[in-house]
Amino acid sequence: MIDSKILVIGCEEWCSFKTLNIPAIKARIDSGAKTSSIQAVNIKRFKKGREDWVSFEINPIKDNLSISIQCQSPILSTRTVKSSTGVSEKRYVIKAPITIGDFTYEIELTLANRDGMDFKMLLGREAMINRYLVNPSKQYLMGEISENEIESMYSYLIHAKSGLKIGLLASDKNLYSNKRLMEAGRARGHEMHFYNIQQCYMSLDTNTPEVRYRGGKVLDDLDAIIPRIRPSMTFYGCALLRQFIATGTYCLNSDTSISESRDKLFSTQLFSANNIHIPITGFAKSPLDTKDMISMVGGAPLVIKLLQSAQGKGVVLAETDKAAESVINAFKSLQANILVQEFVKEAAGKDLRCFVVNGKVVAAIERTASKGEFRSNIHMGGSAKKVKITAEERRLAIKASRILNLAVAGVDIIRSNKGPLLLEVNSSPGLEGIETTTGKDIANEMIIAIEKKLKYSKEYK
Ligand code: ADP
Repeated sequence: MIDSKILVIGCEEWCSFKTLNIPAIKARIDSGAKTSSIQAVNIKRFKKGREDWVSFEINPIKDNLSISIQCQSPILSTRTVKSSTGVSEKRYVIKAPITIGDFTYEIELTLANRDGMDFKMLLGREAMINRYLVNPSKQYLMGEISENEIESMYSYLIHAKSGLKIGLLASDKNLYSNKRLMEAGRARGHEMHFYNIQQCYMSLDTNTPEVRYRGGKVLDDLDAIIPRIRPSMTFYGCALLRQFIATGTYCLNSDTSISESRDKLFSTQLFSANNIHIPITGFAKSPLDTKDMISMVGGAPLVIKLLQSAQGKGVVLAETDKAAESVINAFKSLQANILVQEFVKEAAGKDLRCFVVNGKVVAAIERTASKGEFRSNIHMGGSAKKVKITAEERRLAIKASRILNLAVAGVDIIRSNKGPLLLEVNSSPGLEGIETTTGKDIANEMIIAIEKKLKYSKEYK
């Protein structure tokens, strides 16, 4: 028998938190989840007297990240929660009175650090017991709030539009990195536009170079472009960037830097010319030189890499000279360009990814290969954790990105007995692994880098 005090609620409901100054936030009612959670950013622990407190920001409205509420609360406990992406994270638990419809009662909430949740809030089982039953086919049974009402509730936080006009030049709108960059730009008050590389075209035969977009719109009033060019799009993507630069648009990474970083042989030559330490590396075109090249890099075990490799797919470990010779000759017979490299055994399947923005390492993670594998790429089953890098590693990461003139770079470093060695520099490094592992808002750093370059300040607008 159902208790008469138990109410039926929909699968989505509006709620509010008076003590956190949140007048309205939409919650997904999720009896599948035990704990309730709220998405927060800039989560920082601090001491208030002898108590442990946490400060955080809530963006209560999904599509308007410029609305941001600064909150504080004592920490009740910490809890390890597996996020929807499968990454375990430690979350702070706080207590706060929630109001749904006419009822207010206290619940426990974990502070979720951005894990791609579609809802800003999840109301879990614990908060529903003896109170609600869910009717999954209904919404807002406890009261609806119109867009106008939301606007007036938050009007004191909505700033006039005065930002930059920034284009994100990429291929897939739904990729984590692209979604994050769009939201970080909007959160800082900029006008963000997504442009699919394949739908951009150029006019080259006029005195005024132009880039046009699907349907003929001329893209001539953008302040900046964030290029996120996948390897298969390098040629066309870089041509577009050249055109944007010619029309006076600032590009966060230029066409030259991107194409140089994509050419592993060229960038390796640049690194050795600039005294950057890399694993001993050889390159040859003709099969006649295979044996000498193997001895040149110190013999097996050694690593053979396809120059066009990505995500570790074209990277092979040859345990013996004989195996190395066969693999090298097989690749050569396919006309593939390859690098042959000493195997850094002592790295034990680990490497570092340093995320550099404007000459600063803003985050770093250590990736570890799965059992029986030497490649630490996440796509190869590797795992990642936050890491503190040494001053020497930091200098190496910064120098490598500077040599390629990259404002944004993912610098991969391997720890060897000789010290840190540079593996490669990526000009469109992904944000998902590093943001979820470190909890850092790297997309925000990238937007700030544009603001600094353009000497943008809200006061001037
Ligand atoms: P990709 O660009 O395809 O990711 P990498 O050169 O970064 O290729 O190599 C993939 C992974 O293989 C690296 O992340 C690292 O873990 C491992 N690896 C690469 N080169 C070496 C090496 N010389 N010695 C030991 N491990 C290596």
